[in-house]
Amino acid sequence: MNVGKDAEMKFYVSVDMEGIAGIVMREQLIPGERLYEEARVLLTNEVNAVVQSLVDIGASQVVVKDAHYFGLNLLINQLHPAADYCFGGLKASERFAGLDSSFDGALLIGYHAMAGTQRAIRDHTMTAVHWQRLELNGQSIGEIGLDALLFGLYGVPVLLVTGDDKTCSEAKSYLPEVTTYQTKKAYGRHAGLIRSPKSVYAEYPTIIERAVQNKAKCAPFQMNGPFELAIRYTSTDLLDGRYFDGVKDKRIDGQSVVYSDASLLELLNRVM
Ligand SMILES: [Zn+2]
Repeated sequence: MNVGKDAEMKFYVSVDMEGIAGIVMREQLIPGERLYEEARVLLTNEVNAVVQSLVDIGASQVVVKDAHYFGLNLLINQLHPAADYCFGGLKASERFAGLDSSFDGALLIGYHAMAGTQRAIRDHTMTAVHWQRLELNGQSIGEIGLDALLFGLYGVPVLLVTGDDKTCSEAKSYLPEVTTYQTKKAYGRHAGLIRSPKSVYAEYPTIIERAVQNKAKCAPFQMNGPFELAIRYTSTDLLDGRYFDGVKDKRIDGQSVVYSDASLLELLNRVM
């Protein structure tokens, strides 16, 4: 069945790697590591299944952002021809190149739970090496929430989040109506009950059709300013060499900084 076959439908897909079917170990996630090249195949296959599913329901435009590490993990020669691909990483305002309010929805594929989540595969927020915990206006936040806010700035709702079971429940905590899809059940940071990638690819058409049909219920994720982002860093020396003005950027203790700004985008541009 075609969902809204007559209308133009544009989707922005942001893809991380930790929640992709078949991925559970650090060695699969870091360029140069023993299992990384094989994991890129898993990533590319899953993205291609997502793009094909969007085409099947009548998408007129699909943009895929490679959001893992330095932003170039997909195997370029094997990319589905129906999408455009956003590679590399810039500041927050350019994280999703080409994004504007004409997109119908965003899909967060292969995501992971925020830093500090118990029994979640590769839980972290943006950088496992530098950031231990983030709170935006007093609310704990991870990559699902931050990216949903960036899409929300353009009025674009998140329609689907995929990853392990903790990823799915974290998504529901911000986005109660979002469709979630579990590619694995986490038992630890590097342990889980993994579904066969092939069975996951086979299920995407149904999942994506359901997620897009549910669009009317999904509101863009937005928060009112002014904004205060508290970040706990992993080590004091990450902060010792930096200047804090004591107003917009306040060092609270050895490892914590509070950043504030009236504009969320300005704030995220400063810290990301
Ligand atoms: Zn990642």
